[in-house]
Amino acid sequence: MKEYLQDPTFLMAQRQLDNVAKAMNLDSSVHARLRYPRKSLIVSVPIRLDNGDTKVLTGYRVQHDMTLGPSKGGIRFHHHVTLGEVTALAMWMTWKCALLNLPYGGAKGGVCCYPEEMSDNEMERVARRYTTEILSIIGPEKDIPAPDMYTNEQTMAWIMDTYSNFVGYAVPGVVTGKPVSVGGTLGRIEATGRGVALTVKKALEKRYPELNAPTVAIQGFGNVGSVTAKHLYEKGMKVVAVSDVHGAIRNPAGLDIYKLFEFMKETGSVVGFEGSEKIDGMALLEERVDVLVPAAVANVITEKNADRIQAKIIAEGANGPLTTEADQILLDKGVLIIPGILANAGGVVVSYFEWVQDIQHLFWSEEQVVEKLDFLMEQAFDEVYELYQRKNVDLRTAAMMLGVGRVATAKNIRGLYP
Ligand code: GLU
Repeated sequence: MKEYLQDPTFLMAQRQLDNVAKAMNLDSSVHARLRYPRKSLIVSVPIRLDNGDTKVLTGYRVQHDMTLGPSKGGIRFHHHVTLGEVTALAMWMTWKCALLNLPYGGAKGGVCCYPEEMSDNEMERVARRYTTEILSIIGPEKDIPAPDMYTNEQTMAWIMDTYSNFVGYAVPGVVTGKPVSVGGTLGRIEATGRGVALTVKKALEKRYPELNAPTVAIQGFGNVGSVTAKHLYEKGMKVVAVSDVHGAIRNPAGLDIYKLFEFMKETGSVVGFEGSEKIDGMALLEERVDVLVPAAVANVITEKNADRIQAKIIAEGANGPLTTEADQILLDKGVLIIPGILANAGGVVVSYFEWVQDIQHLFWSEEQVVEKLDFLMEQAFDEVYELYQRKNVDLRTAAMMLGVGRVATAKNIRGLYP
């Protein structure tokens, strides 16, 4: 029954939990229960293509844990989506939410498809049919989806609309990352990148306070990578290399990020930007920089390229960009790795603020959102850093000890039903 969970990304997430369980002497009953998801739903998503043909896609929604509250996590449309990967991502959401002290468990969903090849109408049909199929397990008190790879505000509006039509009234709190006009929050789009930049700045201050104008390379120029680039640039750092699905560019003198945004808007890619040289997408990871931000897909730094990484600090903008083997090689080299459950948690933090506003029907200013986001991110960073120093473990272990520990405390006090 559990064969489908032999996926390498799931096994990596499970191994991380096992290692942390050992390091923190975790209660064996809690450990055993946290190794598997609570509920996994596999659905067929049949859609009519624009040319009249029918295609049957596969979708998933996995709820890893619901001890601290409803489960929370994004929905991705991507051809890498598998049950195993979605399960790993759901598990990381559990630790991420607990680490940030959000009253949520972890979930993730996805539809295996090629979004680049689909029209907007086809995407809408996928979003609506997928929502219909998972409708019985989502809801503002049960499980709250959000954007992830290749889903955006528009996708969330379709999900909200589909759910609302089924129950017969508007339910903005069923999903976060919506447009502001239908109950979204100010500050959500920038939240993840803003949080990544904040953790990079704090890590530099702690470990390399002497560096002025640190250099940065960013893999991925989607919502996470591009906003991270903007915030680091505004903090005075030199972004020397970035990439997107079309390739990577580099300029050792530093890229003008505002001009790059305009260029992207006109051409749809970073490649060809004035004054930059085109380099290989994977070579970007090996640039001689102070900070590397992998903000694209999972498993990009493995035992094959880890020893060629030259960065002093790696901030995981993406979920799971480093394999366990790569993690160890880099730690042995003295690289400071800010784990995704901390570095990219800004997105789910502002999702939480959006949900709180939706269920209270009371909306906040952007200043309020940003101030509370920075506060929660700084607090989590400081807690992780303090534990990392006190226990002499790496940052990922420290972050997981805090996240897993909070879930374990709640599980123990709630007890095992029946
Ligand atoms: N997909 C984002 C993540 O991986 C955000 C999830 C959310 O806002 O619920 O953290």
